Amino acid sequence: MRGLLQCARAPEPMRQDRPFEPGRYTARLMFAARRIQHCQACGTPVDLRIPLDDNRERAVCPACGLVHYVNPLNVVGTLPVWGDQVLLCKRNIEPRWGKWTLPAGFMELGETTEQGACRETDEEAGARIELQGLYTVLNVVSAGQVHLYYRARLLDVNFAPGPETIEARLFREDEIPWEDLAFRTVAETLRRYFMDRPTGRFGVHCADIG
Ligand SMILES: [Zn+2]
Repeated sequence: MRGLLQCARAPEPMRQDRPFEPGRYTARLMFAARRIQHCQACGTPVDLRIPLDDNRERAVCPACGLVHYVNPLNVVGTLPVWGDQVLLCKRNIEPRWGKWTLPAGFMELGETTEQGACRETDEEAGARIELQGLYTVLNVVSAGQVHLYYRARLLDVNFAPGPETIEARLFREDEIPWEDLAFRTVAETLRRYFMDRPTGRFGVHCADIG
């Protein structure tokens, strides 16, 4: 996926033993991360202030008054399965070049989450799939993102990776390159999948990643 997690970094890594604190990620941090410096309508340098009818800081244009609302982005992807194997893609783009990921990327305007997940799977792996249902909903508050992964059944193993992917291949559970996964949401989705698989019950998992 192009540019995943490019938008922001937490001021410090989230520690596993620390309660999740969404409030730590202030509006100011998000604006700095998203680099809104000029009005998208007239190009004037923006001010960072709380509009009269609002309750948090926004990038506001002092010339034309445009308020720039920045909201979380959706990343959509799939967990494609072939028998006892899952499909991973080796990234040919930054960030995390050379690391392994599930096919996923930013949702585009004009598509549903399912359509986006299928599109990314086609673009990154050239894989033909049948979606099997939403599997993980993962908040990445520090990056201003929500990641949604669908389970999917591969229809064949004739992959045709696109330019964003070095290699697309199948892995059994004991072959998963856990130390070389690109993103924590990918690791979390895979971890849950291999825990659920023996039970045959998958459901939907929601978690806060950091
Ligand atoms: Zn303006």
